[in-house]
Amino acid sequence: MTKYIFVTGGVVSGLGKGITAASLGRLLKARGYKVTAQKLDPYINIDPGTMSPYQHGEVFVTEDGAETDLDLGHYERFIDENLNRYSNLTTGKVYWNVLNKERNGEYLGQTVQVIPHITNEIKSFIYNVGAHSGADVAITEIGGTTGDIESQPFIEAIRQISMEIGRENCCFIHVTLVPYIAGSCEFKSKPTQHSVRELQGMGIRPDVIVARVDEPLPEEIREKIAMFCNVGRDCVVENRTLPLLYEAPVMLEKEKLASTVCRILGLADREPDLSDWHRMLGQAASRARSVKIALCGKYVRLHDAYLSVAEALTHAGFENGARVEILWTDTEKLTEENAEKVLREADGILVPGGFGNRGVEGKLVAAKYAREKDIPFLGICLGMQIAVIEFARNVVGWADAASSEFAKNSSHPVIDLMPDQHGVKMGGTMRLGAYPCAVQNGTLLENLYGASLISERHRHRYEFNNEYREELQEKGLCISGVSPDGKLVEAVELPEKRFYVGVQFHPEFKSRPNAPHPLFAGFIRAALKNS
Ligand code: GLN
Repeated sequence: MTKYIFVTGGVVSGLGKGITAASLGRLLKARGYKVTAQKLDPYINIDPGTMSPYQHGEVFVTEDGAETDLDLGHYERFIDENLNRYSNLTTGKVYWNVLNKERNGEYLGQTVQVIPHITNEIKSFIYNVGAHSGADVAITEIGGTTGDIESQPFIEAIRQISMEIGRENCCFIHVTLVPYIAGSCEFKSKPTQHSVRELQGMGIRPDVIVARVDEPLPEEIREKIAMFCNVGRDCVVENRTLPLLYEAPVMLEKEKLASTVCRILGLADREPDLSDWHRMLGQAASRARSVKIALCGKYVRLHDAYLSVAEALTHAGFENGARVEILWTDTEKLTEENAEKVLREADGILVPGGFGNRGVEGKLVAAKYAREKDIPFLGICLGMQIAVIEFARNVVGWADAASSEFAKNSSHPVIDLMPDQHGVKMGGTMRLGAYPCAVQNGTLLENLYGASLISERHRHRYEFNNEYREELQEKGLCISGVSPDGKLVEAVELPEKRFYVGVQFHPEFKSRPNAPHPLFAGFIRAALKNS
């Protein structure tokens, strides 16, 4: 039977609940337990797929093609388990399912209500994650902050689960802010007390309080929180702001978080094997070099919009002994005229994924600059499409080459919808999730992966237009990866350049701090030679 850990947040949002949950997952996995994780989001969108990255940060894509919250990326990177469509549930999806059942007459004439119908839907989703994963422990994070109207049905559902599976099989962790008032040099526990009281009012008594602090938590504040929140002294855990995210599991291990959770859940507290994690932290600590990567996108004001890309660059830096400094480059402001000034500093240029035509011309400028100056270039998804368009325009000479996503009347739509895709709508109409890719012999791609068949995750609608395959190849564009049936172009490269690679998929989703992705590792290696 799967045991459940429920992680709620108090006082303010943005406390790093996801990192706490992910770190705990790592610590339990290091004890030999099979762990999975899940996030419940109170907003009404069916999934974050249609939301602006400015609203929600990046959309994280799972192997089975679910478009999910970016916290799932933290779970995968920390726990190193692939999650799936059972790993993220929104209020919108809950209501969607319930209303479909209602229309199908499945409620047999009953009045459909929040309790029990909405809560039952939430519960079945939570139970499913355990059943499908066969995990010993499922960590379920509830988005938002205690007291939000939207999260109430989720809180009620997890309360009911704790009654159904037995309180001894559940652990409630409340992550909260303990602010420091500089004027009076004091930590304040009152907001935490209020937030725990709110939770208790909904029938949930937290077992563990994780206190987010910027400075070490004084002993008397720990004791005060323990007393007022009705938990043992060792159940108040300090979670300090760290210079490097990946130190969180080690810090929480020192705080005995996982041992305490094992005790609460009645699990044996085995000796954790964190050797690989420590090896990675050792690499991170001994980074002696530095490398600058221009990340050229249109959402650069919010770094979370490119979270997995930024993390994958950091991981690749660990392996190469280098700190990766990201030069956040707004492509809406990048032009032929200012390219030299803006990109001169860059040791490598990365054009990430994106949608819509805003900022596209600037991305083309970045790809051209990289090609002409032979600066290592990695194009991801839209970034690969940009590389192809730039090549078609400036090497082949088709001045209006474009993607039909941006230009409906181009005479050379080198990126286009596949013939069977015309007429599709927004939302749920993309090529999503893992697809195999055959890597061509003798290419840089083959050299990097060391494999002839790979699998990577996708999230896009448009594809390389096969009508132009031959001509582009004749002019020197190497098609280094294709779908196994040969029909879809998955990767391109320019063989005469040091590192100029575009991939239709999103390698960033599979990078791990202790197992950097080969494409990113190779890109940083090439950029370092340039630095
Ligand atoms: N907008 C492009 C497409 O739909 C690329 C998508 C992406 O970069 N994720 O094909």
